[in-house]
Amino acid sequence: MEPRRPLIAGNWKMYKTSAEAVDTAAQLVKLTAGVDDVDIMIAPTFTALESVSKTLEGSHIDLGAQNIFWENEGAYTGEISAAMLKSVGCRYVIIGHSERRQYFGETDEAANKKIRAAIKAGLIPILCIGETEQERESSQTFSVLDKQVKMGLKDFFAKDLGSLVIAYEPVWAIGTGKTASEEQAQEVHQYIRSLIAEMVGDELSGAIRILYGGSVKPENISGLMDMPDIDGALVGGASLKADSFGKIVQFK
Ligand code: PEP
Repeated sequence: MEPRRPLIAGNWKMYKTSAEAVDTAAQLVKLTAGVDDVDIMIAPTFTALESVSKTLEGSHIDLGAQNIFWENEGAYTGEISAAMLKSVGCRYVIIGHSERRQYFGETDEAANKKIRAAIKAGLIPILCIGETEQERESSQTFSVLDKQVKMGLKDFFAKDLGSLVIAYEPVWAIGTGKTASEEQAQEVHQYIRSLIAEMVGDELSGAIRILYGGSVKPENISGLMDMPDIDGALVGGASLKADSFGKIVQFK
C-alpha cells in the first residue's frame, strides 16, 4: 500500500480581510517554497478566496473553503455552492466543523449532503468529527464518532470516497490550548480507520487521510505526526500567522 501523503490544513475561520489574507498567504508561499513532500491547504473566509487564489498560483499551497451548500444554485440566501467554490480555485472544502455544528445547528445529515455535493463537483471534502468534553468524560467518545462517521458517510461506496479526508477534532481541544495526547489521538484515529474498513473495506481505510485538529502548534506537531494513524493536521489559531503555520508545515 502507498504511504499516505501528509496534509497540513489551515482553517482561518472568520479572521482576516481579503487584503490581510493575501498578505499572510504571500508570506506562506515564500516560507513553504521548498516543501514538496507535504500537501498544504489554507481556508480563508469566502470573501478572500478569489484574491488568495491568485496569490497561491504556481505555489505548493492549495485553497480550501470553510463551508459549502449542497444545491447547485437557487433561492438560498447566504449560501455558496460547490460550483462557486470551484470557480474561484478551491480544491478542498471543510465540512461539519464543530463550530458549524455548535453555532449553526449543522447535523450529520447536512454533512452527508455537503460531502455528496463536494465530491460531485470534484472538491476534496474534509469531514470534521469529534466529541465534546462531557461526551468524553461520560465514555461516549467512540459512540459519538461512530454516529458522526456512519451518518456523515451514509449511502456512500468506496468508489465515491477516494479523495475524502477526515479530521478528528475533539471539541474540548479546539481553540482551548488543550491538545489531545499523542496516544489519545492515535487511539481515536485507529478506531476511525477500523470503522472505515468495516463500512467500505480495507483498501480505502488504508488510503484515507485522517487529520488531527485541536490546538496544534509548532511545539506539538512532530509528536502527533509520529503516530501511525495521524496523517496530518487541521490547524486553527496557529495557522493565522505565517511563521507558526510555516513551522507546522515543516514538522519533519
Ligand atoms: C480548528 O479550527 O479546526 C482548530 C483545530 O482550531 P485550533 O487549532 O485553534 O484549536
